[in-house]
Amino acid sequence: MKPAAFDYFAPRSIEEATALLGEHGGEARVLAGGQSLVPAMNFRLARPAVLIDINNVPGLAGVREDGGMLSIGALTRHVVFERPVTSGPLAKLLPVVAHNIAHLPIRMRGTFGGSIAHADPAAEWCALARALDAEIVVRSAGGSRTIPASDWFRSIFTTDIRDGEMVAEVRLPRLDDSWRCGFVEFNRRAGDFALVSAIAALRMEAGRIREARLALGGVVDKPVRAGAAEALLIGEKPGDAAFRAAADAARAAFEPFGDIHADAEYKSELIAVMARRALERAMAA
Ligand SMILES: Cc1cc2nc3c(=O)[nH]c(=O)nc-3n(C[C@H](O)[C@H](O)[C@H](O)COP(=O)(O)OP(=O)(O)OC[C@H]3O[C@@H](n4cnc5c(N)ncnc54)[C@H](O)[C@@H]3O)c2cc1C
Repeated sequence: MKPAAFDYFAPRSIEEATALLGEHGGEARVLAGGQSLVPAMNFRLARPAVLIDINNVPGLAGVREDGGMLSIGALTRHVVFERPVTSGPLAKLLPVVAHNIAHLPIRMRGTFGGSIAHADPAAEWCALARALDAEIVVRSAGGSRTIPASDWFRSIFTTDIRDGEMVAEVRLPRLDDSWRCGFVEFNRRAGDFALVSAIAALRMEAGRIREARLALGGVVDKPVRAGAAEALLIGEKPGDAAFRAAADAARAAFEPFGDIHADAEYKSELIAVMARRALERAMAA
């Protein structure tokens, strides 16, 4: 099928893009990598009257270190992260996460900001944003807003974004070397969306866990943090006993949705297994 008719604009600056978004409001959609939007339009699941293609807007692509933060331009393609873009624990974590997104042709076009805006509950970057307490910077004709990831993801394909706004940048904290990070996902075939994914970040001090972050993707309608599991890990020595207890707490905290690939009971079991493996991988990193 072909998409329904739409008007197309290709602005040359962020000011022009946000002015167009302001003018067309809820009728308009941003076109970034097109890897989710174009199939949805072809199936007529999405019928935007206006497409605002941001691919010619300068300054939206690229990663830069900005003090204690890593600033990721919305138009940065997934594939960029397959090589280290920074130092410290994120230099190891980001390539592993990126490599698990879809297939290479999709990673060549799809964008970090597009994934965060699309808010698929199983998307790897969305789980990462929750795990690391990312900040999402949106721009509109009226200025900019910064939204913490904990408030950004509302539900499936639904975020805190308002009509007239676009994602300009996502900011991640640059973790220092006291952090250990691990990522794992389970899917039926390489390149498929994860049935369940898990990202763990542990801050170690004198052999014990001082801070813990454990995020899960694919479990409910948005990426989530396993708060009870995190609390159990604080003060513990990393190892099988602590990780199994945390994994059990993560499983108990969520009632996953079942889908055509896995029923709820199976996903529940996957939560525990993925959580434990992510914690193990963090300590092995
Ligand atoms: C076969 C297949 C397999 C896939 N597997 C995975 C996978 O395993 N993991 C995964 O995470 N993703 C997967 N994807 C999706 C892919 O990662 C997309 O790249 C991503 O979801 C959207 O990024 P995009 O740049 O292509 O956005 P687009 O498709 O251009 O846009 C997606 C949505 O986000 C909005 N949007 C985009 N950019 C902005 C912005 N800057 N500001 C405001 N709104 C914006 C659009 O308006 C649209 O509503 C897969 C896609 C396909 C086709």
